[in-house]
Amino acid sequence: MIEVRELTKRYGGTVALDGLSFTVEPGHVTGFLGPNGAGKSTTMNIALGLHTPTSGDVLLGGRRYTDLEQPLHEVGAMLDAAPAHPGRSALNHLRALARTHRIGRRRVEDLLEQVGLAGVARKKAGGYSLGMRQRLGIAAALLGDPPVLMLDEPVNGLDPDGVRWIRELMRAQAAEGRTVLVSSHLMSELELTADRLVIIGRGRLVADTTMRELAERY
Ligand code: ADP
Ligand code: ADP
Repeated sequence: MIEVRELTKRYGGTVALDGLSFTVEPGHVTGFLGPNGAGKSTTMNIALGLHTPTSGDVLLGGRRYTDLEQPLHEVGAMLDAAPAHPGRSALNHLRALARTHRIGRRRVEDLLEQVGLAGVARKKAGGYSLGMRQRLGIAAALLGDPPVLMLDEPVNGLDPDGVRWIRELMRAQAAEGRTVLVSSHLMSELELTADRLVIIGRGRLVADTTMRELAERY
């Protein structure tokens, strides 16, 4: 479960988040919708301890990211698909991550297979296509088998096969009882993936609803 509580973030004079609160439940794909600049990435960055909030907090299974003992086992995220180390292969990238977090080598091999990178696992990630980088990002996010997944605009720029693959993966993760939060600025994208929807604008909550309720009410 993800709990966003009274979250405020200011960058100098810019108010990126303005008292934002909502909860994301396990077992669903929850879409996080809002126009560019609404505060979606800021919310996810704070959830992952990459930015500090001005006030309020985000709890993952009841704790702040910075208080998690084994963060990779608690939350997996793909915030952008740029490889952290372009000179490193997918295999070495995942192995390094696995080593740091005491995850077995076998899990790395299995994941490379699962995300469809087994054939290019020894090539440098800097030469990967966008779709392959997304697959590597997803593999890193899944490495610790976390109960919470957070994906920031994961299908941007992907070919139809890649888009379908990520959608199916998110739905399968939710069906296994995980909490999945996926951001997009496009309703047309989220209506194909999400069954719940959190809509924000200018750092504030606009609606917290289900797709069904949205279709019936509007
Ligand atoms: P979204 O992900 O919904 O497109 P963001 O969270 O990226 O929105 O941005 C929310 C607001 O915060 C925007 O006005 C953006 O310009 C501003 N912002 C985001 N990151 C920074 C930063 N590092 N420095 C200054 N302003 C920022
Ligand atoms: P390194 O020293 O090799 O960079 P780190 O342990 O610092 O190893 O990990 C950094 C890399 O791991 C980055 O690519 C980052 O995106 C990824 N990473 C860290 N935590 C997570 C997470 N919870 N979910 C997905 N990827 C993560």
